[in-house]
Amino acid sequence: MTQKTPVTVARGDGIGPEIMDATLKILEAGGARLEIEEIEIGEKVYERGVKNGIEDSSWASLRRTKVFLKAPIFTPMGKGYKSLNVTVRKTLGLYANVRPCTSYYPFIETNHEKMDVVIVRENEEDLYAGIEYRQTQTVCESMKLISRPGSEKIIRYAFEYARANARKKVTCMIKDNIMKMADGLFYSVFQEIGAEYPEIEQERYIIDIGTARIAAKPQDFDVIVTENLYGDIISDVAAEITGSVGLGISANIGQTCAMFEAMHGTAPDIAGKGIANPSGLLLGSIMMLVHIGQNDVAERVHNAWLKTIEDGIHTGDIYREGVSKKRVGTDEFTQAVVARMGQEPVRLSPVRYGEGKAGGLQLPPLKEIKPQKKELVGCDVYLDWMGDPDKLGDMASKMGTGNFTLEMISNRGMKVWPDGAKETFCGDHWRLRYKAKGTLTQHHILDLIDQISAQKLDVIKIENLYTFDGENGFTQAQGE
Ligand code: NAD
Repeated sequence: MTQKTPVTVARGDGIGPEIMDATLKILEAGGARLEIEEIEIGEKVYERGVKNGIEDSSWASLRRTKVFLKAPIFTPMGKGYKSLNVTVRKTLGLYANVRPCTSYYPFIETNHEKMDVVIVRENEEDLYAGIEYRQTQTVCESMKLISRPGSEKIIRYAFEYARANARKKVTCMIKDNIMKMADGLFYSVFQEIGAEYPEIEQERYIIDIGTARIAAKPQDFDVIVTENLYGDIISDVAAEITGSVGLGISANIGQTCAMFEAMHGTAPDIAGKGIANPSGLLLGSIMMLVHIGQNDVAERVHNAWLKTIEDGIHTGDIYREGVSKKRVGTDEFTQAVVARMGQEPVRLSPVRYGEGKAGGLQLPPLKEIKPQKKELVGCDVYLDWMGDPDKLGDMASKMGTGNFTLEMISNRGMKVWPDGAKETFCGDHWRLRYKAKGTLTQHHILDLIDQISAQKLDVIKIENLYTFDGENGFTQAQGE
């Protein structure tokens, strides 16, 4: 295949231009067939007053090429500025964040000789929806959203990735002992989709012990699939213990577009000094080559890079006296990789990428969801209030009596009425749970809110209670 693949490239900020220059030189020497379109993103664009750091004209290039190789960029602090990474991910629907974490023992110092974990992190949902409210003087709410299609896409991706890359096991990490509905949904989809991949071993960890196990025994893991926040944390833990965050890669994959980058930032402390390690971005660009079907080039470049690492030619961040042979800057490292093009490592395992197919993994359409009977059976009314739970119980149980029964009151999720414990601390954030006596409509709820407001109680939020095919669509309060 001689046809060139169009790719959008951004040189970024700080060490970005240096490591991008190095990466592109190595790709060229490896015979990559790329037609590069450059766009400007980051600091200079923010300075021009573009709040999300990317000009409208750059979107046109991304939509045309659908492949983005991105150097790190500076994200300004302060209100009003939006993270470019989050904007690009969400705009282009890059739902899967794939982060391979590999150790290169004994050539790069690490406590974990055999580590080859790939973290597949959901990239669009969870607490990263950024839906937050300050509801009382002392309480803020951050909304965690987990959807069935969002879970299905990422879990399917993880299994397809495992199959395509001859991986043996997929581990699901969740906290469904506490978040029974949201994380429970994610895990039930894992079980359902996992049943279609019987040849792949499957396991589940609660995220807290799972994180501890990754830190202590990373060799026990293969592919890990998890929600957005957990994935963000465990991928940093996993990258750190490989011995070098500087080698971490982050691929962001969507249905039609994909973005590849290094995990690290702009390293302002070493920018312009010619000593940055280009390996993170280079390894990201190798994932890009596989994504566009240039597996032959990916294999050649990756093996040349492994041979360079094995020969002890190391930049300052990974240089260790007694292990490394030569401390080099960015240019010399680049030349060393170029000089080894066509060679393979001897002690580290050479990579094999097999036949190439452009477009990345193709997933089947989402499963059809059987319609369920949804019934309104009550509502939770949230109040900003201070006082004694029994006094609130007395007042609130006299409201809406034609249509509702006050079932319980909770404060920050803990039941405090009826029969609350005296020791429970109560803040200014209360929930009144009203259950319907018979058939309920939205008008009954509005009528109830009117009655509560008339008592000078400050209603801050209403949450409807539904059943789905008779099963509760809400959890019980703690202590209920
Ligand atoms: P950082 O990753 O830039 O630097 C942390 C430390 O690692 C520094 O000591 C740095 O010198 C070193 N380091 C990082 N990459 C290296 C490399 N390739 N070679 C050698 N040493 C390297 O993290 P930070 O200092 O917290 O962030 C700096 C800036 O980068 C911030 O503006 C932040 O918003 C941005 N950032 C951008 C991205 C991105 O665009 N994807 C990711 C993270 C941080």
